[in-house]
Amino acid sequence: MAQTKPSSATPAQAWEKRGWRAYPRVQMPDYPDAAALNAVEAQLNRFPPLVFAGEARRLKATLGDVAAGRAFLLQGGDCAESFSEFSADNIRDTFKVMLQMAVVLTWGAQLPVVKVGRMAGQFAKPRSAPTEVVGGTELPSYRGDIINGFDFTPEARIPDPQRMLSAYTQAAASLNLLRAFSTGGYADIHRVQSWISDFTGGAEAARYRDIADRISDAMAFMAAAGVTAETAHDLGQVDFYTSHEALLLEYEEALARIDSTTGLPVAGSGHMIWIGDRTRQVDGAHVEFARGVQNPIGLKCGPSISDSDLKTLIARLNPENEPGRLTLIARFGAGSVGDHLPRLIKAVQEEGANVVWSCDPMHGNTIKSASGYKTRPFDSVLREVREFFAVHRAEGTIPGGVHFEMTGQDVTECTGGVRAVTDEDLSDRYHTACDPRLNASQSLELAFLVAEELRN
Ligand code: PEP
Ligand code: MN
Repeated sequence: MAQTKPSSATPAQAWEKRGWRAYPRVQMPDYPDAAALNAVEAQLNRFPPLVFAGEARRLKATLGDVAAGRAFLLQGGDCAESFSEFSADNIRDTFKVMLQMAVVLTWGAQLPVVKVGRMAGQFAKPRSAPTEVVGGTELPSYRGDIINGFDFTPEARIPDPQRMLSAYTQAAASLNLLRAFSTGGYADIHRVQSWISDFTGGAEAARYRDIADRISDAMAFMAAAGVTAETAHDLGQVDFYTSHEALLLEYEEALARIDSTTGLPVAGSGHMIWIGDRTRQVDGAHVEFARGVQNPIGLKCGPSISDSDLKTLIARLNPENEPGRLTLIARFGAGSVGDHLPRLIKAVQEEGANVVWSCDPMHGNTIKSASGYKTRPFDSVLREVREFFAVHRAEGTIPGGVHFEMTGQDVTECTGGVRAVTDEDLSDRYHTACDPRLNASQSLELAFLVAEELRN
């Protein structure tokens, strides 16, 4: 593929972090009290950034390796983090499942795995309708804990800017723990046996144990040869990055900073941010904000994205055609990948654009179950992953990663999997604040499928 600059690139226009305010915005709250909002923004402006520019730059460079097929991106976590489900155990369990999945992928595909959590900032949610009706009562939709409350009461649904401060605090504490787990010994590959989740059983757990045994043998051999976590630091720790949808632009703007090394703006709210499928209007506020920060940017691409919009978005978001800057997250739904992915791959090739292709097999496969719960059949999730890989194989392009909603908890939110969750089981442990997530066991099963696809 020619590595030239996108042909439709226009000269970069001046950018400032407030600039998005002049563009049409969708999916954002109207705060009733402007003074309260201003006070919170001023406070967040004074707070330290949650991540440092050098980390975001390092992730971008690593994603450049993904774009070139030298590494694989694993991005996952909650649909929506919530204030009530916030606990050290929840963070640890999600982290642990990500480590397990990374082991399966690294072992199977013999590629380094770039680990990015939908964590420490994934609070704001776009909704399909502005209001919800329950039992004849209509109220504004819940938009994530950073905006309003989940309770179905008129008071809870009023957007409250104070929630941004709680979200910031929770994100800071989450990141602190994630950094400790990543570098403090928990993620030492010598502990590979201990990451097996309490909630995984059956065939996929046995397969994981088999890999873990073989890794442990390899480690024992290497220790005998003098290679340990003390002599080879990479064995004792992992790089773990955070990401979220940059939906609530008042929050994003207030945490944007200037990178003292490059002198360029960077989002301080997380390492990677993405633009949702509902907020990717080419002349909208979200694209305007994202184009000016140096972080790696994700762009959700659903069935409604046109080839020409994709080209315009590529030119706007990555005018320098920097590898690792732009990750296109395809989310079409099982059975529809072949209708859309080939045309978008062609558009990318026509632009000579450098992108990471990632597959979100969750958001195109949401259905309402007979029991009334929003769910995702695990078979459809697996099928979309297979279709994604098949299209890339046919096109000779690189399937760079997967993006999915999961938790380390033993929830019953998506149906299917080896420990078959049925429609009737959904009510047992349905805890998500928004979309249904894969549980620990389903996540591991997915990792085995992806590893197989990567080997093919
Ligand atoms: C999400 O990732 O939770 C989401 C809302 O995705 P999308 O924008 O692809 O619908
Ligand atoms: Mn979601």
